[in-house]
Amino acid sequence: MSQELPPSRMDKLVAVKGMNDVLPPDSARWEWLEERVRTLMTRYAYSNIRTPIVEPTALFVRGTGESTDIVEKEMYSFEDKLNGESLTLRPENTPGVVRAAIEHNLTYGGGRRLYYMGPMFRHERPQRGRYRQFYQLGAEALGFPGPELDAELILLVHNLFADLGLRNVRVELNSLGLPEERQRHRQALIGYFSQHLEALDGEARRRLHSNPLRILDTKNPAMLSLVQGAPQLLDYLGDDSLLHFETVKTLLAACNVRWEINPRLVRGLDYYSHTVFEFATDELGAQGALCGGGRYDGLFEALGGRSTPAVGWGMGLERVLELLKTQGQDNVGPSLDVYAVIAEPSILPHAMSALQALRALGVSIQMNAAQSHGLGSMKSQFKKADASGARFALVFGVDEMQNKAVAVKSLRDGKGEQVVRSLTDLPDWALTLQSPPNLQPGK
Ligand code: AMP
Repeated sequence: MSQELPPSRMDKLVAVKGMNDVLPPDSARWEWLEERVRTLMTRYAYSNIRTPIVEPTALFVRGTGESTDIVEKEMYSFEDKLNGESLTLRPENTPGVVRAAIEHNLTYGGGRRLYYMGPMFRHERPQRGRYRQFYQLGAEALGFPGPELDAELILLVHNLFADLGLRNVRVELNSLGLPEERQRHRQALIGYFSQHLEALDGEARRRLHSNPLRILDTKNPAMLSLVQGAPQLLDYLGDDSLLHFETVKTLLAACNVRWEINPRLVRGLDYYSHTVFEFATDELGAQGALCGGGRYDGLFEALGGRSTPAVGWGMGLERVLELLKTQGQDNVGPSLDVYAVIAEPSILPHAMSALQALRALGVSIQMNAAQSHGLGSMKSQFKKADASGARFALVFGVDEMQNKAVAVKSLRDGKGEQVVRSLTDLPDWALTLQSPPNLQPGK
């Protein structure tokens, strides 16, 4: 069979375009970031929610919005073989979280603060910072109408970026007001753009009546000056909406967060109301958006639930890691305490049981392993011990074993001092290691 395949099909199989493997040592950076995120979420009392990667397509059509790029052209959808239902690999997770909140009555009797981390899928043109499978961290506060929650969520991102040591990230803010205010603005926009039909590109013309707000979001440089002169939504907000927005700004100012108003920030998604925000950088080229979010008080109802106020954001983790790298924060990795050098196979039972006991005390240990049968020469083992970056080599030699002992060789101080210790002393020695946290940021 395989001989009938064209030569190219017999080549190695590779990952799907736009979907990446995360390999060591890079994966250690991911783990480091995820650890930081979890710690921070605990500090803000956000609990983890894990929803399925596959959801009914209808969830995104209704929840993300029919006229969005995501739903129009970016979803990985397929038919369930069993019943023909259309399913979709989640392109974002706010609809999934809200679906779960409705299904399990999560906001009954009080609000919920939730966060998630996981892969999302969008069929976009792959480029630096834009992938077809990418990882989002998201936080959602469900059931709280107050502007202090909008501020809390922005502060959470601000705090995370500060904690990671990221620089030069700006916060952009806007308010989308209430649906009826947007409706009046929408009419004004349609009127304005209809007077300039000749200046609209094909996409804008198509959106003129379906979603004119999205025209403001255009990336077409030829339309920028037209868009700049368009009626601004902020001018259409009523007193309550303005007060909501002012309160968010006051709270951010009280916490020393600076922002800029971006009237063109409309977000690509239909269910937003009031505050919208984005965290962005100029240091990642075209894909500078790191985190986007806002209030989406209309989504619960749109998905068949009771009217429930909600606010949240989604953040692209690849871009955060890329920015950390660009800014020189790349030296994150596991720190290894011990490399175990083992003279010959007959010593393995002693050595491995001693290593088990040490690991139980929290010591990180890489046991020597050879790429052929046997353990390799002592010389090659010491070479690997040096290359491993471990602080110490534990040498399980023939002589040492006869004395129920092990040699401890220091690897990082340049002296290579070696001290023989009895196996019974090892636990005490392990406690003196006081190994630093396994993953630490480096400079
Ligand atoms: P969105 O759900 O479109 O608001 O996106 C939220 C965040 O996810 C963005 O600010 C980006 O950081 C990230 N993001 C969105 N799409 C992609 C993608 N295709 N590849 C990588 N990151 C993405």
